[in-house]
Amino acid sequence: MDQVSRRLLLRSGIGAGALALLAGCGGGGGARRSGVRVTPQARSDSDWEFVSHKPGWLGNESGGGASGSGALRGVVPRSSWTRSTPKVWDTKPMGRVSRITVHHDGMTPFLSTSSSAAVRRLEAIRNAHVSSNGWADIGYHFVVDPAGRVWEARPTTLQGAHVKYNNEGNLGVMVMGNYDEQVPTIAASGSLDDFVSVLMRRYGVPVGRVFTHREIRPTACPGRNLQRVMETARSRGGALARA
Ligand SMILES: [Zn+2]
Repeated sequence: MDQVSRRLLLRSGIGAGALALLAGCGGGGGARRSGVRVTPQARSDSDWEFVSHKPGWLGNESGGGASGSGALRGVVPRSSWTRSTPKVWDTKPMGRVSRITVHHDGMTPFLSTSSSAAVRRLEAIRNAHVSSNGWADIGYHFVVDPAGRVWEARPTTLQGAHVKYNNEGNLGVMVMGNYDEQVPTIAASGSLDDFVSVLMRRYGVPVGRVFTHREIRPTACPGRNLQRVMETARSRGGALARA
């Protein structure tokens, strides 16, 4: 980690303890500098449409516990947390989505339901992924916070950088926090179930193609407690098995 990103992280209030764990998820680009070039012109406004403020992905009135207002039902757009844009020329296009992988950030435990705290953490992770790892953008496509909000991260038109050598057609969904050291909030696990179900239906991904990071590569991610939640969700009668 270089000094610039270290300063950025410290300034973001995450602290030195988290810093040491920042690579915890162990994401992994694998495509750095070797991507098929996608010209900026290849990207159109419609590429961003998926997350454009359509309410209703939760599909029910009470689920999620998304925000204090209880009104948030859509994905929070990227523009609400960063003005940065991905280095599109340094990525590969997503192509057909065929699998979904769930992560934690593996940093310090995180229980805040504050939107601004989530924004600081998102930006710190993006900075580390870009400045230290040399990636085109934050590695994950979506991030779930402890309040159950779902944040848009890397555009789904671009391959992520979240499972080394395994980013092709792979949507990355990260839950903020460290699930070796904490348990997911009810709001976060409810949102994760609901949102991954929506992704499965939208992209035609069967439950057998929904993974956790450790099921593809040797890593602690997503932590034993989130691993357990995911195993339950995919087992017979679980939320994802029924999606
Ligand atoms: Zn991971």
